[in-house]
Amino acid sequence: MATPLFQAPKGTRDVLAPESERQRALIACFAERAIGAGFGQVVTPIFEELGVFERIGEATELVSKEMYAFEDKDGRRLALRPELTASVVRAFVQHRPPTPWRAWYEGPQFRYEKPQAGRYRQFTQVGAEILGTDDPHADVEIIALAWRFYEAIGLTRVSLLMNSLGDPTCRPAYLEALSSYLHERSADLTEQSRATLEVNPLRVLDSKRPPDQEIIDAAPSMADHLTDEVAAHFEAVTQGLEALAIPYRLSPRLVRGLDYYQRTTFEFAADALDSAQNAIGGGGRYDGLAEQLGGPPTPGVGFALGVERMLLACDAEGAFTAPDNSPQVFVVDVTGGAEASALADQLRQHGIRADRGFDQRSMKAQMKLADRSGAAWAVLIGDEELAQGVVTLRDLRGDQGQTTIERRALVERLLARPATNGEP
Ligand code: AMP
Repeated sequence: MATPLFQAPKGTRDVLAPESERQRALIACFAERAIGAGFGQVVTPIFEELGVFERIGEATELVSKEMYAFEDKDGRRLALRPELTASVVRAFVQHRPPTPWRAWYEGPQFRYEKPQAGRYRQFTQVGAEILGTDDPHADVEIIALAWRFYEAIGLTRVSLLMNSLGDPTCRPAYLEALSSYLHERSADLTEQSRATLEVNPLRVLDSKRPPDQEIIDAAPSMADHLTDEVAAHFEAVTQGLEALAIPYRLSPRLVRGLDYYQRTTFEFAADALDSAQNAIGGGGRYDGLAEQLGGPPTPGVGFALGVERMLLACDAEGAFTAPDNSPQVFVVDVTGGAEASALADQLRQHGIRADRGFDQRSMKAQMKLADRSGAAWAVLIGDEELAQGVVTLRDLRGDQGQTTIERRALVERLLARPATNGEP
């Protein structure tokens, strides 16, 4: 095939069926579980005022380098959303729904990242947030929702990493200890980490660059600097997970890519994937974010899961295969096409998935299409059938052969007698 004039922009993908159906089914499964746990969907715009995302933290690469920011024709500074928590909290502050407010979402996010396997410039997330409570049981509910969802889609090799990032009362002392430690070792840090150190020492811990690892591993740990209250909150969260038999590992260097997190933070890693793209979800508490966005002090906790990444993990585990959405019936009409229109319409009205041929193709050509479509049955109609008010029903997948039946009995017959592959 010649190179097409246009291709999907770098870092983006077209998703065709059946993969698109699989993605849709995954999101539907998440929606069902979120709704079952009392969450209502929130739909926010794909772009927001730039300031909404600047609150995520100027020192994060997400804001400084990866944002699709632009000016509209009136000079408004806008950005395509790089994540959804900030938008959801902005919507909360704008509408002030009663708390605790449970919201779930799904949709595309945009980050100007270096594309690679499992890392795109447009990708899809599902997520859930609880605003208006700092009860550790809310953290547990959030984590359990994600964990049980992974189980539901058949992922078995998932690790949950937990950390507490402290809060504004205990973090300053930790930051000071971390900062002076990193400054002592700064000559051995990578250039990027030295630059990050000047803006936010905590973010240096997020570096995946090999030369930084040894220094990061020996860095002071937040766990040693938590106030009693924050430590007790974290303890209650981990106990809650244990009570639900959800396994986790403490990960004292886990900081995550967004600055608004405090106290509970967590990440889910798919052990079946390479470590470069094994993060299949993450989240935590962001108790100060509503205030930063101009709202009343409102604690919040939530997560976002990467849909494409989860599907890669499913591929690696042979889980959550695409649903079979092939037609149940393929109508082969060799009388001109009008009968196929009428029959297919009638079948679809009864909830039977039906496809048909076009262009007055020959019987042989249409039968080929019927085979390729994956349909369980072909319904054939030629001049003779038309004259007699009958159709020929042919089993394409099993051993039921072919029979001639009254045209008006077709729907009932298809609904009553499953083909060998169980459909319809
Ligand atoms: P984050 O909003 O950075 O916490 O990301 C949450 C999840 O979204 C990650 O665990 C990934 O599964 C997914 N994700 C983040 N960035 C990308 C990307 N560029 N491409 C694909 N998935 C991503």
